[in-house]
Amino acid sequence: MKRLEDIEFAGKTVFLRVDFNVPLDEKGEIRDDTRIRAALPTINHLLSQSAKLVIASHLGRPKGQFNPKFSLKPVAERLSQLIGKQVRLAPAVIGDEVERLKKDLNGGQALLLENVRFQAEETSNDASFAQKLAQGIDVFVNDAFGACHRAHASVVAIANYVKEKAAGYLLEKEIDYLSRAVRTPEKPYVAILGGAKVSDKIPVIESLINKADHILIGGAMAYTFFKAQGQDVGKSLVEEELKEQALAILKKAKESKVDFVLPLDHLLATAVDREAATEVASSFPFPADKMAVDIGPQTIEKYAGIVAAAKTIFWNGPLGVFEIDKFSQGTVKIAEAVAKSAALSIVGGGDSIAAVEKAGVSSKISHISTGGGASLEYLANGTLPGVEALG
Ligand code: AMP
Repeated sequence: MKRLEDIEFAGKTVFLRVDFNVPLDEKGEIRDDTRIRAALPTINHLLSQSAKLVIASHLGRPKGQFNPKFSLKPVAERLSQLIGKQVRLAPAVIGDEVERLKKDLNGGQALLLENVRFQAEETSNDASFAQKLAQGIDVFVNDAFGACHRAHASVVAIANYVKEKAAGYLLEKEIDYLSRAVRTPEKPYVAILGGAKVSDKIPVIESLINKADHILIGGAMAYTFFKAQGQDVGKSLVEEELKEQALAILKKAKESKVDFVLPLDHLLATAVDREAATEVASSFPFPADKMAVDIGPQTIEKYAGIVAAAKTIFWNGPLGVFEIDKFSQGTVKIAEAVAKSAALSIVGGGDSIAAVEKAGVSSKISHISTGGGASLEYLANGTLPGVEALG
């Protein structure tokens, strides 16, 4: 995989794929511009090298049609402010007008294409659409880590039609950190997995069983494992259809050397509601009208102890319903333990980022990955379609 430093950009037309999939409020204004800021080092480098920059991104799920709700207009405005230079927004993704705008670019100028998902061919990784995207392009730069697990035309197929290709700074940094966890994790390697669903995390759990020393499970997904073992978990969130797979994972974990840990105790509530009464349970059955909303105090202590001894930590998914303060202790305390440890710590994904922010410890994490799905898939497979495409 080439880096930006390996390529001479002066006067070349560069297609830069970024992840500007920012959250918008009801008025269509940007709520959080972290993703735009994350691409600035690459954009500023390319502009300072006098590249003619064509930037592409997706935003939301417009399902292959133009929809003003998903226009990149607010992004073009914010990007112009951030780089102190006018960034023109093209009226479409491909077509004569777009080609004219591309040709009109001078070195050091940037053009933002409209949302690539306004074309259905984007998500089907269509070859002739990719060829159109590549028209007049000398170099393809991918800095959209959060989209690299998708085989989409502006991420994967385009690479077949452009000679020079490189990773942007953000992608390079993501791969640098994640590959350390995949290839040469210093031991003990501790993975902390939480969140609502086991279904998203099966491939990563299977891969971690062979690599990690401890896998600490929290969040609602713990209760799919308990239910699969025949425990009565009351009203806790369970993925019934995954019980077989959960049992297979537990069996594999037992056969391998990994320490696969489920919560020892649980914070129960009558509902996901800040007013709900709570109690701690350390055994089953749970009362029929109660659900688990966080890990309990003994579990916090045990997990924090394992984290303290770790040399490598990967964390994805909150350990409880952390959005409600009363149910956020498990997540916050483990975030503090991760922050305190001297390990290489990697936290991935939207909710996990929000959790470390809530705990006020973001600056003490070695690497906060911008892509939840992409980081899980990288950990599971050791590569991503978008990374493979860069050669
Ligand atoms: P995910 O997208 O799978 O990482 O799930 C994140 C969501 O899981 C957050 O919104 C949490 O509130 C939720 N969550 C975590 N623990 C629980 C739990 N015990 N019961 C219900 N939801 C939970």
